[in-house]
Amino acid sequence: MNSRKCSVNACSLRSEYIIPADAPYPDYYRQKKALTEAKKTNPSLKAVHSQVLQDVIGRVDTAFTAMKQRRHGFPRFKKFGQFKSFLFPQIDNDAIAGNEIKLPKLGKVTINLHRPIPDGFKLKTARIIRKASGWYVSIAVQMDVSVPDSVPHGHALGIDVGLEYFLSTSDGEQVKRPRFFNQLQRQLELLQRRLRNKQKGSSNRRKLNQKMGRLHEHIAECRRDFHFKLAHHLCDNAEMIFVEDLDFRIMAKGMLGKHTLDAGLGQFVNQILPWVCWKRDVYYGKVDPNGTSQECPDCGAVVKKDLSVRVHQCAECGSIKPRDVASGQVIRNRGLSAVGLVVDEIACGRDLSGALPRQDRVKQESLRSDLEKPALYA
Ligand SMILES: [Zn+2]
Repeated sequence: MNSRKCSVNACSLRSEYIIPADAPYPDYYRQKKALTEAKKTNPSLKAVHSQVLQDVIGRVDTAFTAMKQRRHGFPRFKKFGQFKSFLFPQIDNDAIAGNEIKLPKLGKVTINLHRPIPDGFKLKTARIIRKASGWYVSIAVQMDVSVPDSVPHGHALGIDVGLEYFLSTSDGEQVKRPRFFNQLQRQLELLQRRLRNKQKGSSNRRKLNQKMGRLHEHIAECRRDFHFKLAHHLCDNAEMIFVEDLDFRIMAKGMLGKHTLDAGLGQFVNQILPWVCWKRDVYYGKVDPNGTSQECPDCGAVVKKDLSVRVHQCAECGSIKPRDVASGQVIRNRGLSAVGLVVDEIACGRDLSGALPRQDRVKQESLRSDLEKPALYA
């Protein structure tokens, strides 16, 4: 990169890195080839398994390709301790025996096998990951099966996510936002204050950093656990789930950014919920997010309200319900029409199952609590 952008009048006096103008771009394959040469001059490279080295070059190449595509974001150099995982692209099928894994060049390593490898699966890759709490290995397995995508059917659920309530469903259920980071922030602050007095590069500083890393990991794990449990709970009561197609990265830059990130809305809506839905054979769909909170779910009229208005009140048809539940129902209606089902048909089906009375009661209760509470955004 430097050899291509150095200007003639500002060359370094000592040395300049120069590559001939007609030299081809050193892409993944060229660099992989060059590895054999590099091993002769740098014997330390020989200590690492060759496929692991190739994978590292692949990752660097991916980063540069991505930068070229979006035209910004020069790949950052990973200094000691920042490169947190490496991959064995091929492992033997009998690499795991008992509580040991056999890795190329490393030999047998004792592991804590969290769950047995299911029968009939081939072991493909092993990625070694370093976290604050220790070393992990994640193994990819393969079997030739085709899993059919779930088709739209049954009871539909529209989900509105937000910060006052983590999510509100079209059935009237509202889930409070857990505050993982806020609870542990005090602890983190204390650790950070102690860090100030520690000398750079000292082992006390490293120990303290490790402690902070473990706390961060703990927060992330609590959040992930909550997301998985919630996703399974949603799948218990629905055969179709619809969410808004939002970009949470934009929300995270706003005034309530810290809270958006703490809730981990993006991780829940874009990663964990689709995955759990796929596993549980629940249809997952995204709908157009424009104006979901300004529409009446019962008659379709436009009901303008700003963020401080927490209750949806329609002048056209007289329906009254919590604002987030109303937009959850709008999302459900949009999702149903997107997959070609009629809203009323679904409502009838739900009637027959006898689930409506209970859900109606929840709706009433959450409405009451919503009316009594002072508005967060007021
Ligand atoms: Zn209405």
